[in-house]
Amino acid sequence: MKKGLIKVSAICASALICAAALTGCGNDGGKLVMGTNAAFPPFEFTTSEGLVGEFDGIDVAIASEIASDMGKELEVADMDFDGLIAAVSTGKVDMVAAGMTATDGRRKNVDFSDTYFLASQVMVVAADNTDITKADDLKNDKKVGVVLGYTGDNIVTDDLQIPEDKITRANRGLDVVQEVKNGKLDAVVIDSATGKALAEKNGLKVVEDPDAFETEEYAIAVKKGNTELLDKINATLAELKASGKIDELAVKYNQ
Ligand code: GLN
Repeated sequence: MKKGLIKVSAICASALICAAALTGCGNDGGKLVMGTNAAFPPFEFTTSEGLVGEFDGIDVAIASEIASDMGKELEVADMDFDGLIAAVSTGKVDMVAAGMTATDGRRKNVDFSDTYFLASQVMVVAADNTDITKADDLKNDKKVGVVLGYTGDNIVTDDLQIPEDKITRANRGLDVVQEVKNGKLDAVVIDSATGKALAEKNGLKVVEDPDAFETEEYAIAVKKGNTELLDKINATLAELKASGKIDELAVKYNQ
């Protein structure tokens, strides 16, 4: 923050120009603003020494490459997952890089880049759990946690039709995973890489059911019609895929 301000004051000749420059700083100055929900390891999380301030993860690394290819500095705007589509649609952020699945529902409001990662939902259960081996087992009176607005929420609510009184919704995966740990919930339905990371950290286990949970494609979202930015994002993603960098990042951040 300080550094940015010093830079700005060096450039500005007077306080007036400075104020004008600061208002214009928003999205098309020297910054590329990435909206995310930094509670989704290994894609985005906070740490004492992150890649961009306190923020780190696969998406932060990918977004840094996009920004650098555009000659811009990456800024991370951390918010609830549920507010990301509105943030990019209203121009509060330039793009959303948040392990976001490109769904048809979301396509009505934003445009998505090419896919950069494949995932699916998994169930995080207690290490000694034996009665949840497939998604349908959740229908047997199980208490299920999801993150509000995630694809996991849609699957549990609409596809599996778990009764509302059995569903707990939180803003962060970690919060519902904690409830599995302390026995208040039987399972959390969440994206595979994040489920694995959170299960490992909390002494829980992951149950997969590829028949029930379809493959999901992660993509970066931009405001509808912003083809200029979308083309740049896709160019960098293509390079990162061709060079094997995305696979490298997945390995690096999954450790
Ligand atoms: N992939 C899931 C979704 O798009 C979860 C993403 C996330 O939590 N950051 O809904």
